[in-house]
Amino acid sequence: MKPFKELLKTSADAHGHLCPGQIVGVRMAMLGCRLIGLEEPTRRDQIKKLIVYVEMDRCTADAVAHVTGVKLGRRSLKFVDYGIMAATFVNLETDNAFRILSTEESRDLAALYAPEAESKKEQQLEAYKRMPDSVLFRVHEVQVRLGEYDMPGPTRRKVACARCGQVVRDGREVMKNGQVFCRPCSGGCYFYDAREVSWSGMDWSPYGDSIILENIRNRSTDFLVSKARSIRALDVQT
Ligand SMILES: [Zn+2]
Ligand SMILES: [Zn+2]
Repeated sequence: MKPFKELLKTSADAHGHLCPGQIVGVRMAMLGCRLIGLEEPTRRDQIKKLIVYVEMDRCTADAVAHVTGVKLGRRSLKFVDYGIMAATFVNLETDNAFRILSTEESRDLAALYAPEAESKKEQQLEAYKRMPDSVLFRVHEVQVRLGEYDMPGPTRRKVACARCGQVVRDGREVMKNGQVFCRPCSGGCYFYDAREVSWSGMDWSPYGDSIILENIRNRSTDFLVSKARSIRALDVQT
């Protein structure tokens, strides 16, 4: 793994600023990777062995993702919205997993580790670099239940929502009265009062060409109807 200083620099650049969360996150990731025996997590042979759960959407989460190289799009980064400054590092090969929590004491003790600092932020920035891992973190060895549908790799299941036709991937559908629904259609999701909208400028595309668009528009009805049928025809697959 690259040295702390270097990781902190690139992490702060990617995140947009240097903040106490970058220091805590970089150290959390370095410790987590060391504990599960993946010292070079971004290297080709190790990147597929690592899964990281982050429990907060704060500065620290960016640093953890940066150092470990995990990504939502690779399914190696799992966000669980607990509002807790913690992350769990899982080695898929060995099943070893450690949950690392940032301590509240570290905030209280910042003044002790950087008494010369002039502002609270300066104090945290310096103190979090100096504190030993034992003050900065608590560590739990844990078991993580990773289901087949949580794993990286190709989509293992696709079903169409019985109400809106949208395809739901990886077993995230909801069963009700023997039918499958997407979460929004099953009731209770983060948005409400959804109304489909369209506008003339919606025909824009980065490589738009009016002749091609015209051709597509002329056959669009048939094309879209058959497409919709084929999606609705998708049934529960296992
Ligand atoms: Zn930040
Ligand atoms: Zn739906």
